[in-house]
Amino acid sequence: MTTVQETLVGKDISLAAQLLGAGKLVAIPTETVYGLAANMFCEEAVNQIFTVKQRPATNPLIVHAHSVESLTEIVAEIPPKAALLMQAFWPGPLTLLLPKSKQVPNAVTAGLPNVAVRVPKHALTLALLKKVGFPLVAPSANPYTYISPTNAGHVKKMLNGKIPYVLDGGPCNMGIESTIIGFSDGMPALYRMGAISIEDIEKVIGKITLAITEKAIAPGMHLKHYSPITPLVASDNLEQDIIKHRNHNIGVITYNNYTQLLPSEKQLVLCENDDFKTAAANLYAAMHTMDGKGYDLIIAHKFPEPGIGLSLNDRLNRARAT
Ligand code: AMP
Ligand code: MG
Repeated sequence: MTTVQETLVGKDISLAAQLLGAGKLVAIPTETVYGLAANMFCEEAVNQIFTVKQRPATNPLIVHAHSVESLTEIVAEIPPKAALLMQAFWPGPLTLLLPKSKQVPNAVTAGLPNVAVRVPKHALTLALLKKVGFPLVAPSANPYTYISPTNAGHVKKMLNGKIPYVLDGGPCNMGIESTIIGFSDGMPALYRMGAISIEDIEKVIGKITLAITEKAIAPGMHLKHYSPITPLVASDNLEQDIIKHRNHNIGVITYNNYTQLLPSEKQLVLCENDDFKTAAANLYAAMHTMDGKGYDLIIAHKFPEPGIGLSLNDRLNRARAT
């Protein structure tokens, strides 16, 4: 693994491109979360991602491209419904599982026949992808199972000294990971809830099935994920849970309103007027902040479902898993 004195943070695309071209890792901004990027064709760099994140090799990576046209070196085939989804949501927070081309190294897909691809919606990263001319594999830039980063400071805090550079594109405006859709026998299925709601996907391609069930989880979709070190309770009834844990030093993450049961400085309110898009953009930053405060317990108020609330609650449920 490359070790550096200190990880630099900046907006220099040329430096980022130079490092990636030399087989180094660079953290990159996207609209979902920050990614830990490497040249897809450089197996040594791809392997370094797993080392730096301490991620099991069985957990495949998402490939980032700048355009549908550049997919030819990544995927072997595009089913018609996948093409419709690309048209509707790219660039954007939708990842598609498609048959991989021979050029994609097996380490990228954990030996699976499909590769996960998306075109991210972030001007700096799209410019970087065009400049380097190769696809970037980029899982979230956090140690395995910890909270994903939604600003450059989060990456620096978690990976300082382990990578040379963080390309700073400001705070991520979506704030949770992409929705993942795959196809089995041409039929679309949901592999990960994410920034695009199931309802919005179904408006474009009709009914989709769920590939994620209690028994058969998608590769890499482990129950524990996105977790602070401080224990977290995902709460359906905030006041009841605060009372239940009143003997602990509690921090609260909620949406809309402060509760009267705790001083306001122990609470983070994610949005106003049920604006759950803003809540999504703020959720991981709130978890990072709360995890640094020395509380015994974080209580996070669950969101109304369905819509984006379903994806946010999925993250809260994984954050509390042990
Ligand atoms: P991350 O980039 O950290 O958000 O994680 C990427 C996730 O995408 C993995 O944990 C898998 O759940 C999913 N994924 C990536 N590639 C594949 C694939 N080839 N087949 C199925 N799921 C995949
Ligand atoms: Mg991740």
